[in-house]
Amino acid sequence: MSDRFIPTPGRKPATAEIEKFARNHQEKFHEEYVWQGKEGIYTWQPEGDLLGTVIFVHGKYDNVETSWSGDFGHFDSGYHEPGKPLKEQFAASGLKALFIVPEAEITSSRGEEVVWRDLQALLDAAGAKKGPVAVLSHSEGYFTVQNWLTGHGNLVHISLIDSLYGFVGKYADWVNGEGHSVDLIGAGDSVRKNCQTGVVDKHAGEVVEDTTPPAFKSAGALQAKILWMKAPYHHMTLVNGMGKVNGKEAPLIPALLRRVEAAFLRAAGKPVPESQAGKKPAAAVFEAGSGDGEDETHHVVEHPLRSELKDVPDLAQMAALHHLVLKSGTTRQEAVKAIQKALNKAIGTKLEQSGKYDSDTGKAVHDFQTRCNDQGRQPRLDTDGRLGAHTLLALDEALVNPSAGAAAAQPTPSTPAQQAPQQPPSKPGQYPLDTAQAQRLATKYGNIYRFVEAPEVKNQDNRPAFWHPENIMVEYKGPGWDPVAAGSKTKYGRHNRLIHPVLVEPLTRLMKELIAEGERIDDESMKRATIGSAWRTFAEDGAGFLRQLKKRLRLNPKIFGSLTFPAALEEDAQSNLYADSARKNFIAQLGAQPGGWTPALAQKLYEMSKQFKAPAGLSPHESGLVVDIDFPYAVVDENQNVGARFHQITTEYNADARLAGAGMWLATHSQKLGFSSYSTPAEIWHMEWLNWKGTDADRGHGKAS
Ligand SMILES: [Zn+2]
Repeated sequence: MSDRFIPTPGRKPATAEIEKFARNHQEKFHEEYVWQGKEGIYTWQPEGDLLGTVIFVHGKYDNVETSWSGDFGHFDSGYHEPGKPLKEQFAASGLKALFIVPEAEITSSRGEEVVWRDLQALLDAAGAKKGPVAVLSHSEGYFTVQNWLTGHGNLVHISLIDSLYGFVGKYADWVNGEGHSVDLIGAGDSVRKNCQTGVVDKHAGEVVEDTTPPAFKSAGALQAKILWMKAPYHHMTLVNGMGKVNGKEAPLIPALLRRVEAAFLRAAGKPVPESQAGKKPAAAVFEAGSGDGEDETHHVVEHPLRSELKDVPDLAQMAALHHLVLKSGTTRQEAVKAIQKALNKAIGTKLEQSGKYDSDTGKAVHDFQTRCNDQGRQPRLDTDGRLGAHTLLALDEALVNPSAGAAAAQPTPSTPAQQAPQQPPSKPGQYPLDTAQAQRLATKYGNIYRFVEAPEVKNQDNRPAFWHPENIMVEYKGPGWDPVAAGSKTKYGRHNRLIHPVLVEPLTRLMKELIAEGERIDDESMKRATIGSAWRTFAEDGAGFLRQLKKRLRLNPKIFGSLTFPAALEEDAQSNLYADSARKNFIAQLGAQPGGWTPALAQKLYEMSKQFKAPAGLSPHESGLVVDIDFPYAVVDENQNVGARFHQITTEYNADARLAGAGMWLATHSQKLGFSSYSTPAEIWHMEWLNWKGTDADRGHGKAS
């Protein structure tokens, strides 16, 4: 093995225009941004014959040095997430290639200052041999890589790691090229949209969707022209090697390099190994201690299938993950054989159990789908003659209830974990969720859906920013009031569900509709929704704000150094800060503390903390018109282990909670019922009632001090 630094002196300075822009544009673009680049290239290669050359292009908040050493996001405190050196991540992949990490010197927010506009010049400078080339582009790296898209026939594969921010047409043209493959990872909404409409939608049939990091469970995932991963890690976790799935290390770059290896083998005309599907699911999902006081550990996977079909590994996975469709040309013989046998049993066809998905099999599947729909089964099945997860579940149900067969309407199959017998399915409700694109996960609570993408809802209108006293509050006793019945282990008491009397009726309606839709589609996150927090005292909000002040100090040493929160000000930090004078006084006192505090640092800490938790006197919960709704959500890790837990109003769990049925439903429908979160990406569970004007709650109490 060898690694080296190759100096490449003589770069051009930034243009005056870019320098000026960088200086003035915004606070974080200080002078250091203009000159953050380092004149050189790092390379590394393992022992042995090399298959090709891999280039990693860093993003805006790094240079060649910081990315090489693993100090990712070095140039912006908001993005600074140190992790593993790139060399370690390359080595972990086992890929035999020359790895090159060049300076990209992204100096402006428009990313214009690239160093290497000529791919061949870079390869020559790094001493690369002739052969296939792959590029991993992180973030603003796309600005460099777009220069390389034409005129270089050896470039066969590009990983755009939250990176398709521009030149979408140019990248899409490159993807069209013979033998070219691309990984698309979208962390932000705009990138996701660029990927979806710019590339994915134009390549139906050539796209395989996967998780981040890719698990390669689907047939052809290693070789697909386009691998699409839209549920991401955070921007820096994508490259820093510190990504985890349910507590287990799951770095992205080594996983992506498996696709690079496939591309190199393809380019060399060598066979590419198929993806490894069918690892046995193990138990163990959430690690102990990862929650805030929760004790949920080691959940065991439970099969959504109940008939003999559950013994076929491909089918069992398919039912849990919805990642496969059996159709003409499919190579999963055991799965197809089992389906042929099941169809003969369920609808009396006489299919040969050949394991080949032939036209007779397709026709039988079509007939079965048509029958299910004719009998009103929910969800309705596409009558396309292909066997996806919903059709599989229907077939499973038909085998379990032979008397009914496909001849009777059946509720969505339930899982062994479910406790109560299900109501027959209702007609699509008034506030329906479409589960067609969702994974149906069997958890210890029963079925919970996991959707692919959560809608983003924000609201600043009609927020109930006032206070009412405890003595007028009443206990909520409507649907979802009882946390024990919901299965929550958190000790929510009567005190956690005190609301203003005017909220009783609208909250009852909200919870009733949420739970009703949960019954219809069979989703435990919705059925088990329960009130976790409602009216709060100043003292409760104050204690939370103090915790947040300390947390922000701890998490931002680049800003605050080793400052700690002064014990002398803890009481003030927890006091009612509604009045301007109270706030100003608190910040001024903090700024005057000895040991390195300044007014600017005090102001900064206050502003940062406030984004995560409102101080006493400034939380809308104090109105009695706001509730936080707790509910369980489910996740699945790279080994297809399924875990579920209540989110417990914990910020770190918001991203996953949003994707559960309850999260999706609240974001989609709550506004029609008069409720909204101020920001679903921040707190999906936080429901503010917005129709209080003219009610008893609208009395201009203002804030008590
Ligand atoms: Zn809240």
